[in-house]
Amino acid sequence: MIGSLGRTLAWSVLCLLATFAGRLTIMDGTSLSLVWPAAGVTVLWFSMQRRARLRWADPLMLAAITLAVNMATGAPLVLALWFVAANLTQVAVFLRVHARLSPQLWGAGGDAPLSRATDLWRLLFATVAGTLAGAAIGPPAVWLVSGHVSWVDAAVWFTRNTVSILLIAAVGLRVGHHWRGGWQVRRISPLRLAEYGALIVCSLSAYVIAFAVNHGLPLAFPLLAVTVWAGLRLHTTFVVLHDLCLGAVAVLFTLHGDGPFATIESHQARALVAQAFVGMVAIVGLSIALGRDERSELLRQLTDTGRAAAAQAQLLTTIVDSMSDGVAVIRADGTWAMRNPASVALLGGVTSGTGTIADPGHYGLFHPDGTPLPDADMAHTRALAGEDVHNMELLVRNSGVPDGRIVSVSARRLLGDDGVVVVFHDVTAERRQRDELAAFAGVVAHDLLNPLTTIDGWAENLDDTLRGMPDTAAQRDATDSLSRIVRASGRMRHLINDLLAYTTTRNAVIAPVDVRLRDLVVDVTTARADLAGAATAPLFTLGRLHDVHADPVLLRQLVDNLIGNAVKYTAPGVVPRIEICSVRVEGDLVRVEITDNGIGIPAGQHEAIFNNFHRAHRSGGYAGTGLGLAICKRIVERHGGSITATDNPDGGSRFVFTLPKATRREVAHAVKANARS
Ligand code: ADP
Repeated sequence: MIGSLGRTLAWSVLCLLATFAGRLTIMDGTSLSLVWPAAGVTVLWFSMQRRARLRWADPLMLAAITLAVNMATGAPLVLALWFVAANLTQVAVFLRVHARLSPQLWGAGGDAPLSRATDLWRLLFATVAGTLAGAAIGPPAVWLVSGHVSWVDAAVWFTRNTVSILLIAAVGLRVGHHWRGGWQVRRISPLRLAEYGALIVCSLSAYVIAFAVNHGLPLAFPLLAVTVWAGLRLHTTFVVLHDLCLGAVAVLFTLHGDGPFATIESHQARALVAQAFVGMVAIVGLSIALGRDERSELLRQLTDTGRAAAAQAQLLTTIVDSMSDGVAVIRADGTWAMRNPASVALLGGVTSGTGTIADPGHYGLFHPDGTPLPDADMAHTRALAGEDVHNMELLVRNSGVPDGRIVSVSARRLLGDDGVVVVFHDVTAERRQRDELAAFAGVVAHDLLNPLTTIDGWAENLDDTLRGMPDTAAQRDATDSLSRIVRASGRMRHLINDLLAYTTTRNAVIAPVDVRLRDLVVDVTTARADLAGAATAPLFTLGRLHDVHADPVLLRQLVDNLIGNAVKYTAPGVVPRIEICSVRVEGDLVRVEITDNGIGIPAGQHEAIFNNFHRAHRSGGYAGTGLGLAICKRIVERHGGSITATDNPDGGSRFVFTLPKATRREVAHAVKANARS
């Protein structure tokens, strides 16, 4: 609080001195001063005291000073009171407008220094707004009290206050910001120091020559040269101080009747022109210096951004070059835009040597089954035609890889560019493992099914024999045991077949084509109805069914599994009612729904039933292995879709899965789902 009061007193003294200085330049018979440094000092005072605790003390002090000095220098009380009103209005309007326009500036509520050309224009705007408000009160008051005031007097009031505020506030905002942030004196080179010295000497010489020596000649304009020099080369704070000092020199000489403006007859006009000159000098110097600062700041940011971008690019190049997967970018004209070493190595080190991609034969590219790869099937050609290529497998066999290598290739168009990015991944080891596993599964299944067939054959024989025997207790026991053996053998055959299907769906290469889902569903449902017999035949309702893009064999397996479950998991004596329909959803997908009126899925098991071997209805005599839905999930996911189970609100369950929609509008012929079986 003491500090705040102390600052108010210090500012008051400064303002008092400035007001006195101003009152010494009163125009004859008008009570109007020619220069008014107090305007700038006041604005600075109130800007600095923005956050002071005793803010009410400042306007009171200002009012007291204005009143005292004006009356002491001969102004009547009424006029002095009007001047108090003019001063307070001027400072209030300036503060409000400046804070609104540049709230980030130190002195206007923020912390940033006055460092942009925009800050200068906003300061000028706030200054003009403040002085206009003050001028609307001051000169009319003089007219009211003294009875005469001219437009020139009003212009003098406006100009003197504007120039004073602009210069002093600019100096104050720059110097005050340095003061608060601690002066950071950068090392200045001796050469630069010499330039500062030279400028000071030149400025003083030029002004002394123009104002003191060169009587009468209107040679004010060459003085701008030193301001431009300072603005272009020297520190901005020095530039504003330079403007202030030279401005003071110019005004003092003019008031004294010397210099290029001294020839102007009227006092007012002379003061007006001199101050307009000072204002001009200040604006030119500051705008050049601030523009230069902004440019160098932008240049620095640009350099930093350029450096960061170069470092980022370097990092990306290092990462891409050290990847074991191949990455390449191919332009629309079939030339390489970039490729990493791995992409060359995966193609056995074979290059075209021209920068343009050669035909598949040159690189030794084949389909995995060994058939030659046509040009049109190259991943980048398909991607350039607008297709997203996912994991297309190729056999690479050339002088670099005589034993052959399986490479999975993905390609897609680059966003906003007419090139494509191609990624190569070596899957030779995985494929070898998969083939070995499939061969092993095949052998195991075959070896297990063989003895089962033998068991079934002998069981049939035994059944025939038992039928021919007399009906005794022993014969009935034997027949019962035999039927258990046959049922166990059936279950085992089921399990082996499911396991085989599971490994196949997991590993088989999928060959998606456009499929008429309606035809396929009709096929499956007819077979199911035939199997059930007339009495318990399920009732199927088919809604709209959209064509899909899927592997027909796997799709049939999926639909058959789900419809089979819908029929199977129905309460005894209930006729299964099953609805199958589809809708198109976003992302080029078709959502297929299969709804039944069965026994439903127990709460909390809607997700678990898709796990291997999970069975939700172990009691109730529903036979099964718990693998069917795991197979369905795998099939759907391998096509890029998803599958979920929910409750049918009318009782029963609903299975929903998504598949890619057909690529063509009309699928001309129903693809036979069992074409490959
Ligand atoms: P399973 O061979 O036992 O039918 P699935 O994997 O096909 O094996 O199904 C897993 C479990 O999910 C089944 O045991 C059954 O409990 C439940 N389930 C599957 N489909 C249905 C359905 N339509 N209604 C009710 N429960 C079902």
